[in-house]
Amino acid sequence: MFSSIATHFTPDCKRVGMTQSYVIIGDGIAGSSAAETLREEAPDADVTVITDEGEALYNRILIKEFAKGKLPEAPISIHDESWYDDREIELKLNTLVTNIDADGHTVSTHDGETLAYDKLLIATGGTPTQLPVENSDADGIHHFWTFQDARSIREHIESADSATIVGAGLLGIDLAAICGAQEVEGNYLMRGDSWWRYALDQEGAEIMHDAMRERGVTPVFQSGVDFFETDDTGHVTTTVDPNGERFDSDFVGIAIGLDFNLELLQSIDIETDDGVVVDKHMETSADDIYAAGDLTRFYDVILGEHAQNGSWGSAKEQGTIAAKNMIESESEGFRWVSSYSITHFDFPFLSFGHPTIGDDSISKKYSETEWRRLALKDGKIVGGVLIGDLAPQSGYKQLMREETYVGDQKETLLNEEFSAEDIAAAQEQ
Ligand SMILES: Cc1cc2nc3c(=O)[nH]c(=O)nc-3n(C[C@H](O)[C@H](O)[C@H](O)COP(=O)(O)OP(=O)(O)OC[C@H]3O[C@@H](n4cnc5c(N)ncnc54)[C@H](O)[C@@H]3O)c2cc1C
Repeated sequence: MFSSIATHFTPDCKRVGMTQSYVIIGDGIAGSSAAETLREEAPDADVTVITDEGEALYNRILIKEFAKGKLPEAPISIHDESWYDDREIELKLNTLVTNIDADGHTVSTHDGETLAYDKLLIATGGTPTQLPVENSDADGIHHFWTFQDARSIREHIESADSATIVGAGLLGIDLAAICGAQEVEGNYLMRGDSWWRYALDQEGAEIMHDAMRERGVTPVFQSGVDFFETDDTGHVTTTVDPNGERFDSDFVGIAIGLDFNLELLQSIDIETDDGVVVDKHMETSADDIYAAGDLTRFYDVILGEHAQNGSWGSAKEQGTIAAKNMIESESEGFRWVSSYSITHFDFPFLSFGHPTIGDDSISKKYSETEWRRLALKDGKIVGGVLIGDLAPQSGYKQLMREETYVGDQKETLLNEEFSAEDIAAAQEQ
């Protein structure tokens, strides 16, 4: 077995041609895909992955299916510990990195260990945001990010009488779907007058609201949380919204966003902006430190500006690209159109790119369960949402990837059977 001394080389080793030492903080998909790429492309390097979780990489996307009761635990795991052993990647589970010494090129862990690195990857993702209200940490109130969270949610929801969900975004709807699948009726409190109001218009959102209602979850608009009430044991009993409306339930699920795990960076000179700022090579402003995954504010070459993206595919690709640049500086740029799909209802749902930004948008409803919206910036597609029929997604993504000007083709873009050739044909006329 390789031992932890493998990672204790001094940073000077690179100057004398010795083994390079790569340390990765976080074993989510970003950190893990970086480790895999490092091993493939730098076979002799020392690679260490440190995670504060007690289990190696698992499929975060699938933990909702586990919580719904539709999947057992086993298929959710992606890597067991032997995966790392087989590749001579040192995996440190249950290990919290508590400090980075950027000048000394070392990281320290909660158990007093110090590891030296030549190149460091920060892939620490985020932690669900807590509501800053009374009793927000009461028993029975759940946040949703880790497999452990999913286990607690499943255990509770299976015996819950009723539920309240807070947070009108992609994770909030997962919580609503979990209640529906477990046949627990609930209220879904939203601040505005529709679900994911920055990406969908009212017509699109109505399709989602109807689907929630069909599952026994009632959307409640212009609502939110003022405070929670608890019983004598400290268990949540009631959610009181800012209008004074009371929603009794013994289960509460909250998904109001992520706080990026940036505490480690506070002691070092590194550019942050509600995320770690990286260039297209995933390199931060600090020497030999890279970042990948949800917590980056990356330079999106398609958009022409810095952006953020919380999706599995994007985090995976960022990890891969970071690793390549850790081996050979500025060797590969990140260029990616992300996708995020929801499979809870009788119709498919997909968002891609950056559906909440842009300076223009077009949308159309095709049937009771079919609708589309595209976000445009400077006449180019930068994101969109498709409900019902996902076939046109490849054409839209192609146009986005190729940065094609479509500002004069709005009607064509909304053709029911749209494909990218429709644009080429229209432009030839
Ligand atoms: C319930 C749920 C459903 C989702 N569904 C979808 C979906 O359908 N489609 C999609 O594209 N995306 C989905 N996502 C989002 C997707 O899972 C994330 O974008 C992706 O997993 C982010 O990966 P990451 O590696 O950047 O961060 P993470 O997966 O958050 O990994 C970061 C890791 O770093 C660890 N860590 C943090 N700080 C430290 C420290 N100081 N020391 C050691 N370790 C540390 C954390 O514990 C964590 O294990 C979903 C997410 C959730 C929670």
